[in-house]
Amino acid sequence: MRRSLRKRFALIFSALTGVLLLVVSGTLIAVRVRDQRELLERNAQAFALTTNTKLCDALRLYYGSGSYKFREIVRSTMSLNPDLHRLLILSVSGEVLYDSFESPDLMLVPDPPKRRLADPDLVARAGQPEPWNERRTIPGVGKVLLVGAPYFEEWGRHPYSVLFVFTYDNLTERVVRSLRGTIALVLLALAVVAAVSVSLAGRVARPILQLTEGVRGFMEGQDRRIRGIQTDDELQELAETFNQMADRIQQQVAKLETANRELATLDRMKTDLLANVSHELRTPLAAIRGYVEFIHEGQLGPTTEAQRKGLDVCLRNSERLTKTINMLLDFSRMELGRVSIRTAPFQMGRLIAQVAAGTEADARKRRIQLRVRVERDLKPVDGDRDRLTQVLENLLTNALKFTPDGGEVEVGARPADGGSRVDVWVSDNGIGIPPEERARIFDKFYQTDATATRKFGGIGLGLAIVKSILDAHQAPIAVEDRPGGGTTFRFSLPAVESRTESGVFFGIFPAGHEASEVLAIDDDPDFLGIIRETLGKHGFFVRTATTAAEGLALAREHAPLLILLDIKLPDRDGLDLLHELRQRPETARTPVLIASVVDERLEGLRLGAVEYLVKPIDRARLVEAALRALNERGGSASGPADAGARA
Ligand code: ADP
Repeated sequence: MRRSLRKRFALIFSALTGVLLLVVSGTLIAVRVRDQRELLERNAQAFALTTNTKLCDALRLYYGSGSYKFREIVRSTMSLNPDLHRLLILSVSGEVLYDSFESPDLMLVPDPPKRRLADPDLVARAGQPEPWNERRTIPGVGKVLLVGAPYFEEWGRHPYSVLFVFTYDNLTERVVRSLRGTIALVLLALAVVAAVSVSLAGRVARPILQLTEGVRGFMEGQDRRIRGIQTDDELQELAETFNQMADRIQQQVAKLETANRELATLDRMKTDLLANVSHELRTPLAAIRGYVEFIHEGQLGPTTEAQRKGLDVCLRNSERLTKTINMLLDFSRMELGRVSIRTAPFQMGRLIAQVAAGTEADARKRRIQLRVRVERDLKPVDGDRDRLTQVLENLLTNALKFTPDGGEVEVGARPADGGSRVDVWVSDNGIGIPPEERARIFDKFYQTDATATRKFGGIGLGLAIVKSILDAHQAPIAVEDRPGGGTTFRFSLPAVESRTESGVFFGIFPAGHEASEVLAIDDDPDFLGIIRETLGKHGFFVRTATTAAEGLALAREHAPLLILLDIKLPDRDGLDLLHELRQRPETARTPVLIASVVDERLEGLRLGAVEYLVKPIDRARLVEAALRALNERGGSASGPADAGARA
């Protein structure tokens, strides 16, 4: 918690005044003590000089007039001065003739034994004909003042000296007594000062506190202004300026909010348009690609070498177009916040091999050495296989794109963090990325330099998509220099212990009779044609339906091995049909594979689809998915030993 300004002010005021008062009163006491001591010493000397003659006369007459008289004189002398602690009468040679301590009752000691003083200095002073004084500290007694007063007989002989011992004990008491009033006054003043400080601090701090409250309120979004500061000084000016500033900010915020709303609407429209256009482009493109492939493979009649070369160009370009459209579609989905991932364990090494195989032809053509380096016994990773395929495809496409002909590209995976993660990298010895650009290459539409863009093509979305997919996996991507020039992209995924995927991926192809029947339900006859051709070639027996009702009837009648289902059907929603297929006992266990232009992956998988493919479908993936579905069904019957026979 913050300390309050008011408390702080009060503390400062009180402390300052307190210190001042203490200094003044301390000085006062010190001066007073010094005065009192001087007074005591002056009095002591005067006292000694005026009483010594009387005392010595009495001593001289001691034997003549009797002890009684001497005792009277000593007693009255001692009582005259409260500071007199002790008195001694000494002979000039330092013998103690009388000591008030040793002879408290003189009557009882008529002839005290004589002794000399132990201190040679005092012995010497006993014979000194002048009066003297000296401050001393005597152990057990404390600070004392010694005053020596010589005694002379009328005719000038100097037989004795009197040594007076005065104490300072009463001094402090006397000073305190005399200063009692002053101390009371100081304490009273301190109390008054504290009270005044608190009230003064309150008054000084109040406008500042009001200012603070006002600013805090404004910060917290309340439409508050600072009121009530009438100090007629800079604080009032500050409050007024703040109020004006707050008004201005409020107006600007209102304007910005309106502009923002308009922008958001426009942005949504743009993204929707992008998504729609991409969908519209994908469907016809899928058919074009499929048929071009058939013609190329000679399935619609023989082709000449020249025609096949032309078809190669068509295929390459439709591939490129598909990639661009996919990227735009992915991007628009990400903009709409629809990127969802569904993680499951899979073999990263196998995925890397598959993606690398897809780009191998391109690399070979450009004499780029494409190396795959996957360490043995790599644990499966936990991630969304389809999305990570996109990541690897984008990184590998870039690596090839930005590497000159004859260069080197490597993609690999190895265990990291003691086997708890799998490190994946794609590196090249291409043009490299300057360090200052690295933070920005993941921004959408960002490309490092305009000339390169024209040379290499691309729309600047690949890495933005890569990053959002990896972000969804909580796997940050790093970009580094590759030693000797070029770039390395690196990320890591959590490893899992299970080996679920091994041996399931490739299986035995079916023999082409009704036991391997696949039912395809799709309203697009072109797509059905592609399915029939593709799966038929691999030994599947394909039956087709163009409506949901027809599909349901065929499924119930023939109990196919696998159902391929589109979501957009003329008479019924495909997901709804899927739900019904799951409910009916005769189709409840038939694997359903969805192939659609709409990505409703999560819902489809939730309803029980075994796979979800988004059109246009790569034919290899279709076969692979059909095989996988088949294996999953057959696997329980024939066991995993069958699987992997063709791998
Ligand atoms: P695109 O490749 O479509 O331009 P990306 O988002 O994939 O868009 O890449 C953004 C930019 O990052 C590229 O234009 C290029 O400048 C740079 N870049 C990406 N990968 C590499 C690489 N391997 N080597 C050099 N530059 C790269």
